[in-house]
Amino acid sequence: MRKIGIMGGTFNPIHMGHLALGEYVMDELALDEGWYVPTGCSYMKSNIEIVQPMERYEMTRLAVLGNDRMRCMDVEIRREGYTYTYETLEQLTESYPDCSFYFIYGADCLFEMENWRCPERIFARCTIVACTRNGASIEKMQEKIAELEKRYQSRIRLLPFYNLEISSTELRERIASGKSVRYLIPDQVISYIEEKGFYQNEVEGFEKD
Ligand code: NAP
Repeated sequence: MRKIGIMGGTFNPIHMGHLALGEYVMDELALDEGWYVPTGCSYMKSNIEIVQPMERYEMTRLAVLGNDRMRCMDVEIRREGYTYTYETLEQLTESYPDCSFYFIYGADCLFEMENWRCPERIFARCTIVACTRNGASIEKMQEKIAELEKRYQSRIRLLPFYNLEISSTELRERIASGKSVRYLIPDQVISYIEEKGFYQNEVEGFEKD
């Protein structure tokens, strides 16, 4: 079986934190590839303020270009309606029966995932890789993992990651105020953002992601 990391995200826009996380997990867990999956339409976010799925896909595709182990997948942006992770994982396991999947996420997901649509179908189709950052209470997470493993027979790996304080929200704000985002976003993505004129009118108090 090929071991594939799945990095799902709104990627509005994709940044070095997302890329460093995927690269790091691939090495730590000896994964064969990392697939970046930009979301389609999220029921949890105000989509009016989010760049169109096809454009976020393009930014993500440009970001992983040149990394032989990374791919950008259009599985969610091509699906109609709201994006649900269980559907993506079911689609991927059906299309790629020779692969086992590792869903990569910030460790907070352990406390959120049960509220996502059909969590049991997510846990059944992948190993969750919950990546912690400084200050996270490992003890609480281990308790939560034990609870989820018992309830769903889930496979969960806790993986410490660096504290890279980069956020898409702040990057949009920097772009809107004319500040540089060089070294925070890949150059080819910055060029695309400039060409398209994205994030020029970011409003204060904009929903965080
Ligand atoms: P996002 O904001 O674009 O972030 C993508 C991932 O990168 C998250 O795991 C995030 O972890 C991580 N990340 C961001 N900045 C980072 C940094 N500086 N250092 C390390 N990691 C960083 O994406 P999202 O909107 O949270 O969505 C993530 C996935 O969850 C998507 O695939 C989405 O479809 C899925 N989801 C599914 C449901 C559902 O099925 N019902 C509901 C919600 C989300 P942090 O969040 O910890 O920053």
